Amino acid sequence: MTTTVTITGSGCPIPSARRSGPGVLIQIDEVALQFDVGRGTTQRLDSCDLWPTDLDAVFVTHHHSDHLVGLADLLLTRWIMDREDNLNPLPVIVPEGPAKNFVSHVLDVWDDDIQVRKAHSKKSQDPEIDIFSFEASSGVTEIWSSGKVKISACKVRHEPVCPAVGYRIESQDGVVAISGDTLVCDEVAELAEGADVLIYEAMRFEAIESLPQKRQFILDYHADTRLIGAQAKEIGVETLVLTHLIPEPFSEEDRQAFIGDIREGGFTGELIVAEDLDSVVLEK
Ligand SMILES: [Zn+2]
Ligand SMILES: [Zn+2]
Repeated sequence: MTTTVTITGSGCPIPSARRSGPGVLIQIDEVALQFDVGRGTTQRLDSCDLWPTDLDAVFVTHHHSDHLVGLADLLLTRWIMDREDNLNPLPVIVPEGPAKNFVSHVLDVWDDDIQVRKAHSKKSQDPEIDIFSFEASSGVTEIWSSGKVKISACKVRHEPVCPAVGYRIESQDGVVAISGDTLVCDEVAELAEGADVLIYEAMRFEAIESLPQKRQFILDYHADTRLIGAQAKEIGVETLVLTHLIPEPFSEEDRQAFIGDIREGGFTGELIVAEDLDSVVLEK
């Protein structure tokens, strides 16, 4: 067995030519799972040689637009590219609340396009989603499994966005934890207990603190790189991947600033300041 973790998007709402919107692809042998679907996700999946119809499920962390704006593109492209006309509905696993509400209606505004394409190409099906929703809970709770993989979720701290969850993915190859968008909090420590790979959203608070007061609200609900370093040390994760990078690192000096914060926090393990398509392979 092999588990490959690929960052499909290391960006955030700020437009970037280099960085797609938030997303992580986890491939456990032939099982392909996408976590969040930011802008450009479908193109990044193609860079991973993954055709949209090969995706087995999508998991959603929360209803912020930067994490969901690529979902309609993925669903429509998957449907249009299905030449055999025998597509199964795509399972989308989502916490109850606004994120589920969004997913339930994500294709509504595309109905005229869907109907004209369907009639013209003589497809028998509409693009369909199989929604598996769960009540987000404060402890790590199993919410989905297939033969080779078990997935748990836990509420994280992204208020006023509620609920927001992180995910823990367990297979024979090891454990991967995805923080979602959150403050550094005990819930992430619980999600990442014993993890081989922790994918953490990362913001350099020091850089934001010098911005005008009006823009500092983002400090309320993101993860301070200095605290991430301390927490990753405490948890003892092997590999820490920083993504959802704010501010975007453009130069080597910018990248080193992220690294410096994490090392200052005490983490000495493998550290990746993600670029799109960076990947980590786990094998047992
Ligand atoms: Zn975000
Ligand atoms: Zn968010």
